[in-house]
Amino acid sequence: MSACGTSTSEWEEFRASAEALEDGRLVADHDMVFEDEAELYAYWEEMSFGSPLAEDEVGAARQPLTQSTPGGVPEVWEFPQSMRLTYCVEDDFGSREATLLAALDRAAGFWSQRVGVRFERVDLTDCGTDSDEVVFNVQRHTGVAYNAIAFFPDDPRSQRVVGVADSAFTTSSGGRDLVGILAHELGHVLGFRHEHIWTACTGEGPADATALTSYDPNSVMHYPSCRPPGSASGYRLTELDYEGAIQVYGLAPALIGLVT
Ligand SMILES: [Zn+2]
Repeated sequence: MSACGTSTSEWEEFRASAEALEDGRLVADHDMVFEDEAELYAYWEEMSFGSPLAEDEVGAARQPLTQSTPGGVPEVWEFPQSMRLTYCVEDDFGSREATLLAALDRAAGFWSQRVGVRFERVDLTDCGTDSDEVVFNVQRHTGVAYNAIAFFPDDPRSQRVVGVADSAFTTSSGGRDLVGILAHELGHVLGFRHEHIWTACTGEGPADATALTSYDPNSVMHYPSCRPPGSASGYRLTELDYEGAIQVYGLAPALIGLVT
């Protein structure tokens, strides 16, 4: 292949950058998870040969908080499950465990302080992907290129893992920090898709996604590298993130009655 100056070796390079999960799925381009190599190739092809927006369209592109809606059906945690999203943390984080737990609390708090969702950590002696008594488990990933990965609400228990790599504790790429990375991943857990799918910045397109709000390049679900110049850095929830999430999950219980 040579179209657009792209070659087979560039595919091989991208393929080599993908990490294999224990169940055979592949992770590439930060936290994108692919079922198999064919799906990864389709993503790369779209990224390489798709039609990116003309430069003057970029600033006008819609980048709202975006919900995963496979087949038009919203992927969402129904009440009361949405108020009790339980998880356990595997015991292999070593000396970083306290840092991780504090960051998980802050990241979860970003969502639950205003949105009708609640994450609840459960102490299990043998936390793992086979821990059926919790909704998901948090697992250490080593020797991988991504900082963290997550899942969507409709995924089976075997895939409901938030993987946190060692790099997540130290990276400052794009203004990222551990709390922000976890807030972004918990956004996926709540059913929110990447914001930049509306801009053709990566190979991820808007299929099976629905926009909830108006333009917001600073969304917590938007890769920093895909934002227009002058945007915020890192991952923090914006007013529009809250607006979109509240549309789906309602207000945090503590706020009901306070808003007139
Ligand atoms: Zn992501």
